[in-house]
Amino acid sequence: MDQDELLSNSFYKDVVSFLEVVEKTIDINPNLITRLKYPRRAIRVSIPVRMDDGSMQVFRGYRVQHNHVLGPFKGGIRYHPNVNLGEVSALASLMTYKNSLLNLPLGGAKGGVKVNPNSLSRVELEALSRRFATEIGPFIGPDKDIPAPDVGTNPETMAWIMDTFSLETGFSQTGVVTGKPVEIGGSRGRLSATGLGVVYIAEQALETQRKEISQSTFAIQGFGNVGSHVAIEAHAMGAKILAVSDIKGGIYNPRGINISELIRYLKEHRFVEGFPHTNTITNEELLELDVDVLCPCALESVIHEKNVNKVKAKIIVEGANGPVTPQALDYLLKNNVLVVPDILANGGGAVVSYFEWVQDISWLFWKEQEVREKLKKVMVDTFTRVWNFTKTYQKSKDKDNLRLSAMAIALLRLEKAMKLRGQI
Ligand code: NAD
Repeated sequence: MDQDELLSNSFYKDVVSFLEVVEKTIDINPNLITRLKYPRRAIRVSIPVRMDDGSMQVFRGYRVQHNHVLGPFKGGIRYHPNVNLGEVSALASLMTYKNSLLNLPLGGAKGGVKVNPNSLSRVELEALSRRFATEIGPFIGPDKDIPAPDVGTNPETMAWIMDTFSLETGFSQTGVVTGKPVEIGGSRGRLSATGLGVVYIAEQALETQRKEISQSTFAIQGFGNVGSHVAIEAHAMGAKILAVSDIKGGIYNPRGINISELIRYLKEHRFVEGFPHTNTITNEELLELDVDVLCPCALESVIHEKNVNKVKAKIIVEGANGPVTPQALDYLLKNNVLVVPDILANGGGAVVSYFEWVQDISWLFWKEQEVREKLKKVMVDTFTRVWNFTKTYQKSKDKDNLRLSAMAIALLRLEKAMKLRGQI
């Protein structure tokens, strides 16, 4: 793989720099770090789609399989106009570290199609998803690589991919994707899992500052799958959600937004703007609000060198993958802001995806309450492991650098596995 091409993407470069920070800080096999800088495999495909007007368009798609030493590759599929090989590779490697940190028997992968899903009709989107599934079909499967939803994709997309894969292999293979509708082998509680996991983690982070979630205030950037469920679950636990946003901008009410009313409003209006009893704010202004917990739940690199000095929140919980750049993280650590890294904070989706895969291959399905209880246990245990590692292992200057601890724990597990398998 041409690493120069990958490193020309700043997000990929940031993920590699996290590896290098761990290498400098703890005693770890340098061969592991060298190996993990390269994904194992990257598949690029062309996806021809006949559009509703009869014309043909060809979209670019990727599936990057980063590492599978712990189990089958696993990771979402993103539909977004900015998708490129570097971004998908960065997200694939984060999945390797996330699954390792969470003690799941899974490796890391990610996929993406360079497309604006809002500009396609439902028929065109289905055609695109089915053709993408056909093109990556030889490389995925319940024992090989299991996709899931990410930005711009949802349970319906997963249903199309599962159906195409099943038709091509000749029998129903529910375990080929997770995040499916419950009626065709999805897990109860998967849709809300990432957001709920973010809230369990926010609760733990607040406790370290002796604050209760029921007395806290939140600002949430991105009101898609992750952000909306952070809002719903945190609101249900008594937190005040002062601001939320989507791609068009944000809304703010210093006394708290009524989230159930907002969800009802969104059934008729596509975007949060115009919701009664709120003021309009920009996505940039949302990041600068004085709240207890700031949850960036949209895209990567939104808190960076240039705006980090305006952040006032004392806790940042990374609902999105990679929203805080390494330079911004340095600044925040120096200013005593507790940043809970993506591979811990948004791991709830990976955990319940794992539960879904287990239910699919055993054909035995669990109740939602069981899923939520099991998820809470994994999230709280993982937070505790990361917190304890920070307190006992890190030198005082690295105090509360949870990203460093989470990456170190993930890499130490990978180191053991790769050594046992004779790969390093
Ligand atoms: P989604 O497509 O459901 O929602 C994305 C939201 O972000 C939408 O509200 C969209 O309007 C908003 N948005 C898009 N571009 C924006 C911009 N430039 N500025 C502000 N808002 C913008 O996606 P999602 O599944 O909620 O994923 C969000 C993030 O969480 C991504 O980083 C994804 O990788 C990560 N993540 C998702 C899952 C999951 O289970 N879906 C799991 C772990 C991590």
